[in-house]
Amino acid sequence: MDRIYIKRLEVFAKHGVFPEENVLGQKFLISAVLHTDVRAAGKTDDLKKSIHYGEVSHMMKEYLEGHTFALLERAVETLAEKMLLEIPGLWEVELELEKPWAPIGLPLETVSVAIRRGWHRAYIALGSNMGQREEYLKMAVDRIGQIRGCQVERVSSFLSTAPYGGVEQDDFLNGCMQIRTLLTPRELLDALQGIEREAGRERKVHWGPRTLDLDIIFYDREVVDEEDLQIPHIEMQKRDFVLLPLREIAPYLRHPVTGKTVSEMAEELTQHYVM
Ligand code: AMP
Repeated sequence: MDRIYIKRLEVFAKHGVFPEENVLGQKFLISAVLHTDVRAAGKTDDLKKSIHYGEVSHMMKEYLEGHTFALLERAVETLAEKMLLEIPGLWEVELELEKPWAPIGLPLETVSVAIRRGWHRAYIALGSNMGQREEYLKMAVDRIGQIRGCQVERVSSFLSTAPYGGVEQDDFLNGCMQIRTLLTPRELLDALQGIEREAGRERKVHWGPRTLDLDIIFYDREVVDEEDLQIPHIEMQKRDFVLLPLREIAPYLRHPVTGKTVSEMAEELTQHYVM
């Protein structure tokens, strides 16, 4: 991805853990690297196809001068989120906030906090087999779209499937969705579990009936193998109720470990059934 640099823009703000800092204020320097595609602007000389660094500089100055935070960490975290939500075409941003007059009683040149934040693409599988199944799935799609830093990009059709795991129960309704998110995998998992709870899901029987089940299938090309979170979802290649709706919205997406596309995995699974 191409980059636009804004280096050491001076702002006068009141961030700090000492009360005097929040009253008197001091000089800060903010630097930003905007990750965006400038090819179209380079080809046409049209500013509307790029990001206006003047406007971004004003946005950063107004934000940092208009808010007071104890920590530099909080200042850059919230500023990065605002920029990613409000600036079209910005996929990733690096911010460094320097505080050259930090009151620590020692002659340092500067102190700074630097972060890199960006949009991620994730795929979520949805399932329900109790009550108003379609209503639960639609509610989940709406709620996921309402999470701050989550935008719904694509939703598959919903597919009725026989239950999995040998427990006697009603058929499931399943679907998949593609989102853009600023959340980390764990934050996304917590948010999805909150929505499951809201739908009144009780975990009584493993693989048993549930009003709403939300699983993270992919998160960029990342591999997470922790005790309570595995991405790509560990069972995805065995589940037609995940692969079939997912194939509708992302047939060419590749599993980051096996290298197989969703289409290939779906085909292997259905061939396996025939044999
Ligand atoms: P289930 O009852 O099948 O929905 O399983 C829920 C449990 O799976 C949760 O406690 C999660 O911590 C765990 N889990 C592991 N990996 C994932 C994932 N990729 N998406 C959602 N839940 C996951």
